[in-house]
Amino acid sequence: MTKQEFDKYIKNVDESKKELAASWAIGIGLQQVDRLNVSEYLLDLAKRNIEGEISIAEVKRLIDEYYDKRCPSRKYRYRSTYTRIPNDSKLCYTRLRGTKMKNIPYIDLHCHLDGSITLDIARKLAALQNIELPADDAELEAKLSVPESCESLNEFLECFALPCSLMQTIEGITESVHLVQEKMKGQGIAYLELRFAPQKHCDKGLTQKQVIDAALAGLKMSDLHTNLILCLMRDKGNEKENMETIELAKEYLVKDGGVVAVDLAGAEALFPTADFASPFAKAKEYGIPFTIHAGEADGAGSVHTALDFGAKRIGHGVRTKEDTALLEYIIKNQIPLEMCPNSNRQTKSVDDMSKYPIWEYLAKGVKVTINTDDPAICRTTIAKEFKYLEDKFGITAADEKIMLLNATDAAFTDAATKAALKKAIESAF
Ligand SMILES: [Zn+2]
Repeated sequence: MTKQEFDKYIKNVDESKKELAASWAIGIGLQQVDRLNVSEYLLDLAKRNIEGEISIAEVKRLIDEYYDKRCPSRKYRYRSTYTRIPNDSKLCYTRLRGTKMKNIPYIDLHCHLDGSITLDIARKLAALQNIELPADDAELEAKLSVPESCESLNEFLECFALPCSLMQTIEGITESVHLVQEKMKGQGIAYLELRFAPQKHCDKGLTQKQVIDAALAGLKMSDLHTNLILCLMRDKGNEKENMETIELAKEYLVKDGGVVAVDLAGAEALFPTADFASPFAKAKEYGIPFTIHAGEADGAGSVHTALDFGAKRIGHGVRTKEDTALLEYIIKNQIPLEMCPNSNRQTKSVDDMSKYPIWEYLAKGVKVTINTDDPAICRTTIAKEFKYLEDKFGITAADEKIMLLNATDAAFTDAATKAALKKAIESAF
C-alpha cells in the first residue's frame, strides 16, 4: 500500500478508530517510513491494526523486528518530533531525527514518602534508630514491596506498615526524605513532589508540626528540586487530625521549596470523597492548592466530587472515562491526571490492563502525567513506568515529551521552575 493509497484509505476510516489505537501505530509506521522508505510494509501493518486484525503490541513488535533486521547495528533509538494524527484526519508525516538518547529530565508529581522506602533505605533508617529488621534481604523486600502478581489492594496496603514504623522520629523522617530524594535523583528525576500524611508519623509522640519540620530539614539535605504535599487521610474519627494538617499547610505554604499543596489519600472505596467536604472547603478558603486521589478505587463520581471541592489535579483519575461528560470537562479545563500505571495495575484500578485508558486519554487530549505512586512498593522507577507504557501500549517518545510537558504545567511550583523544566525537556527531545 503506497502513501497515496493509505491517505485515501485513512480518510474513510471511522473517526473513533483513528483517534485511538490506530493513530500511534500509524505514527510509528510513518516515522519509520520517512527514515527508511519502507512504506508499504508499515502502512500495511497500520491498516491491519485499524481493521482490528492485529493488536498495537503486535504492530510494535513487527515494526521493531523489521527495523532491527534493516539496522542491526543501531546503537541508538530514533526519536520523533511528532507522531499524533490530528483529529481532522489529515496525516501528519513526521520527520524523524536520529539522535542519541539524552538524559530525560523526569518529573514525578505523585510519589508517597512511605511508598518509597526501598530495601537499602530501610536498612539505613533502621540502623540510625537501632531498629531490628529481618536479616534476610528477600524476607525484608517481601515486607516492603508487592510481588509482580499482586493479588489484592490489601496486599498492597500492608506494605506501608514497616516503612511507617521507621519514620516515627525526627531523625527517621529527616533522613528518609533525604535518602528518597537522593534515590530519585539517581533515577533521573529532575523535579519531585513528595507526599506524606503528617498524622501517620505521630505514633511515638511527635506532633504533626514536628513531623513537617523534620521533613523540611530533610529537604534541605539534597539538591534535588523537591516540594512537599501534605496528605489528609481517608479514615473514620480523624477529622481533627485532617483539620490540623490543613491549618499547618496554611502556615507552611510556599510557592516553591517546601509545602506547596495538600492531598487526600487512603482507601477511596471505603471512605468516599464526599465525606471530606469540610477540610477542603477550608483549604479553598485559605488558597491552598490541592490534589485528591480519586477515580482509582472508586468511580467517576469521586472525581466529580473532588473537582467540585476545587481540586487542581486528580490523583490517578483512571476511572474518569466512566462519565463521558466528566471526561469532556477535564479535557476542556485541562485538569491534570496523575496517572501511575504499575500501581494502577497492582491495585487493580482496572481489571484488565489492556483496558487501561492511557492511549484513549492521550488521543483525546486529557492532560495526562506519569508518576510512580509508590516506587518501592511497586518495585518501579519513573523510567520503568515509561518503558512499561512503551512496551505495553506503544507510547512513543513524542507522547513521553507531551506527558512531561503536561507535568510541568501541572506542577505545584513557581513560574521560574516551570520555565526551567520546559527548557530542559525541549533540549532532551
Ligand atoms: Zn497515591
